Amino acid sequence: MSLSVTRENFDEWMMPVYAPAAFIPVRGEGSRLWDQQGKEYIDFAGGIAVNALGHAHPALRQALNDQAAKFWHTGNGYTNEPALRLAKRLIDATFADRVFFCNSGAEANEAALKLARKYAHDRSGAYKSGIVAFKNAFHGRTLFTVSAGGQPAYSQDFAPLPPDIRHAVYNDLASASELVDDTTCAVIVEPMQGEGGVVPATREFLQGLRALCDRHNALLIFDEVQTGVGRTGELYAYMHYGVTPDLLSTAKALGGGFPIGALLATEDCASVMTVGTHGTTYGGNPLATAVAGEVLNIINTPAMLNGVKQRHDWFVERLQAINARTGLFKEIRGLGLLIGCVLAEPFTGKAKQISLEAARAGVMVLIAGANVVRFAPALNVSEEEVQTGLDRFAQACDHIKAEVSS
Ligand SMILES: *Cc1c(COP(=O)(O)O)cnc(C)c1O
Repeated sequence: MSLSVTRENFDEWMMPVYAPAAFIPVRGEGSRLWDQQGKEYIDFAGGIAVNALGHAHPALRQALNDQAAKFWHTGNGYTNEPALRLAKRLIDATFADRVFFCNSGAEANEAALKLARKYAHDRSGAYKSGIVAFKNAFHGRTLFTVSAGGQPAYSQDFAPLPPDIRHAVYNDLASASELVDDTTCAVIVEPMQGEGGVVPATREFLQGLRALCDRHNALLIFDEVQTGVGRTGELYAYMHYGVTPDLLSTAKALGGGFPIGALLATEDCASVMTVGTHGTTYGGNPLATAVAGEVLNIINTPAMLNGVKQRHDWFVERLQAINARTGLFKEIRGLGLLIGCVLAEPFTGKAKQISLEAARAGVMVLIAGANVVRFAPALNVSEEEVQTGLDRFAQACDHIKAEVSS
């Protein structure tokens, strides 16, 4: 018999860096989850934009089980077939010529930033160490990536931080132009800020960053950890914008729930990373790459990607109807299945409260800051799941409205 555990145990045993929901999910199928008490939830959180094909997808279970029966790990002294197949798929589907595998988004960005520094050291000299990032950006929690991130609250307690990182204003090309110069080795940017509030970049902004990087011989890094693998209705968001980076980090949805990250690079960039310059024990692990290969197979089809655009409309139409009744939102924004509802007066600052009320009504939603309710559901969420989930979300919105009005 296994130990019986409750949510209270979290508060006794876990390092208190998270504040998880009051319930413990125990089983999932598609976009539904059930908790210890058997209560059903529609999952529009998608494990924070990770479970791109929902829970317990039959083809992913098959891929994982097939590889589990063969072997799990060898380390990087040996390559393996699933890793090579996944690398080729990523190369064929994108601008990239080379791939580096790791285990998370932060590690993919860490690799990108390290590569950019080494590229500049090797080709230009140590003076070219500057990294330009953006306010409100999120790039992960390692010391380098949290420093590149644009929320000082996440980094200031861990000083001294890696130097030569400066932050411009997102979607403000003039602000970026002031910081990018010949001492800049890289610009790192999310094509749509996820954690920062679901803010899509403008095309002019990304095109302008590309031109700035070209002018100053700096690498352009797109952090597509949240926007990648079909989330925006294109395989990667750079395809939506028609602006090609030199380096691209991808993780989250890539594994459909199995931990994996990857850095995609041009041949020229990759060439500075010679044997022994970087690595990680689990990178290219055959279980992770077997699952990710199947994820990419399923998602990188016109039907799937067009389905994401269709589902965007299902969400936005219904959210607008909720808003017509409640007036909770001042803006509904985003691309594909990364959608943010920005709260209007007098509901500002209540995103967390709305998400708690939504869970009570049987639907899981995310927040992005105090003022944005965020949806990042599975890319194959069904119309019935969208309908049922948003009916429950509407109940939560009505409840909040009634509370604020009284
Ligand atoms: C989630 C996220 C990361 C960090 O990924 P981890 O897997 O948590 O390390 C980095 N960048 C963006 C844009 C993200 O959304």
